Amino acid sequence: MKNNKNFRSKFIDSLRDQGIKNELILEILATLPRELFIEPALRTRAYDQDALPIGCNQTISSPYIVAKMSEIIYERDNMGSVLEIGTGCGYQTAILSSLFDNVVSIERIKTLHLRAKETLASLNLRNITLIHGDGHEGYSKQNHFDAIILTAAPAKVPDKLLNQLNEHGRMILPLDVNGSQKLFRLKRTKNGIHKKDIDDVRFVPMLEGIV
Ligand code: SAH
Repeated sequence: MKNNKNFRSKFIDSLRDQGIKNELILEILATLPRELFIEPALRTRAYDQDALPIGCNQTISSPYIVAKMSEIIYERDNMGSVLEIGTGCGYQTAILSSLFDNVVSIERIKTLHLRAKETLASLNLRNITLIHGDGHEGYSKQNHFDAIILTAAPAKVPDKLLNQLNEHGRMILPLDVNGSQKLFRLKRTKNGIHKKDIDDVRFVPMLEGIV
């Protein structure tokens, strides 16, 4: 892309202006080619601050939301394994793969799952397992994760996912609250689950079953 470097530095400045502070995450966003995750017809908009359609009625989240969720899930000394629900185009997945040792990401729409697989393979990211499945069921091949991130909003916290959270693990998810959505951070502690309200957000709904 012409002037790609310029686009990307403006992109990072804008994220800083919106309050993103974690330098590691800014660096990852600065180097990851977002245009690869976007349909060719929309690629000139890859470094805008918008959510964009990725087909199948789904969207890639805005760069700010991706950066914000990455910042909230980041805990310097606890970056072993992460489970992502809602691979979509795989952009957040790629960022998680630079932050965590191992990433498992589940997507219910086969077309998106296959496309993300191709994109992530072209970037040679090797610590990612992509699954075509319903995220409500969790991931049966691994018992527990240090972190779980949902990029689609369920009506309530799925029990099976909560059960897959390690001791001291955290979960970032959008939840419906009285008809609108909020982003929450749940943290498993000795005294149970601690829940923190982060921000108002707008995600696609988490749906049952696979297609
Ligand atoms: N992080 C993604 C966001 C995509 S939108 C990106 O940047 O592209 C959320 C995704 O969650 C959609 O692709 C949708 O199909 C998926 N999704 C919704 N319900 C799901 C479920 N039950 N299990 C797995 N994926 C689900």
